[in-house]
Amino acid sequence: MNIRGAYDQNNIFAQILRGDMPCCKVYEDDHVLAFMDLFPQSPGHTLILPKNAGRNLIDTDDKVLAQAIIRVKKIAIGVEKAFDPDGLIITQFNGEAAGQTVFHLHFHIIPRFKEQPFDRHGKGNPADREVLHAQAERIAEAIKQIEA
Ligand code: 5GP
Repeated sequence: MNIRGAYDQNNIFAQILRGDMPCCKVYEDDHVLAFMDLFPQSPGHTLILPKNAGRNLIDTDDKVLAQAIIRVKKIAIGVEKAFDPDGLIITQFNGEAAGQTVFHLHFHIIPRFKEQPFDRHGKGNPADREVLHAQAERIAEAIKQIEA
């Protein structure tokens, strides 16, 4: 599959956006949904998706991207406040050859902690959903404080 294939309405993130599959929600508004990655590369690994149906960054409208990146920044600050990491990786993959595995545009926010091991992309273990829910609540609370 090349970078510019058709959008699959049944990809897992489309199902989550429709509410057909569960997620540990961090943030939602008219433009984006953010939730915890089920296979986190480190504690606090959060995904942000535009609600717009697009496979990746280069086939997505500029206005959608502009709204999304503002939310990526806000949610990154929420992750920072909630987890106090030493660094934050913010990343995004376009196409299978680049490492993309779910073909609905999304941004990763991955906290990095000095001295703590870091799972490679796609190599994380499935996390306990209760732990993810608790983490999502911590980040959501931090975001509310930013917005207040
Ligand atoms: P990509 O490889 O496309 O950049 O990222 C897809 C991400 O989605 C991966 O980090 C993977 O762990 C995560 N993921 C895959 N399936 C699910 C799921 O069902 N729920 C959640 N919350 N994350 C998922």
